[in-house]
Amino acid sequence: MTDSDICGVCKGVGTIELIDSQCPFCNGTGENSTAAESYMKSHICQCIFLDRKMCPICGEKCHHDTPHRPKIRISPIN
Ligand SMILES: [Zn+2]
Ligand SMILES: [Zn+2]
Ligand SMILES: [Zn+2]
Repeated sequence: MTDSDICGVCKGVGTIELIDSQCPFCNGTGENSTAAESYMKSHICQCIFLDRKMCPICGEKCHHDTPHRPKIRISPIN
């Protein structure tokens, strides 16, 4: 079994520890699916479940600000 064969959201476990329930993407089978794959690509940072420094979904550090929230400057004048 390679990484691409397992559900990235639950890491192939079948349950999401954070919310203590069955993984809705693989229905508890731990197998990869297109829904899980697209979620992994477009999910919102879930660091609030941890220490707000790391996203438990992808294991990357907090990505709250990227890429879906461009920082908009209201005024160029300080
Ligand atoms: Zn899963
Ligand atoms: Zn993430
Ligand atoms: Zn975050």
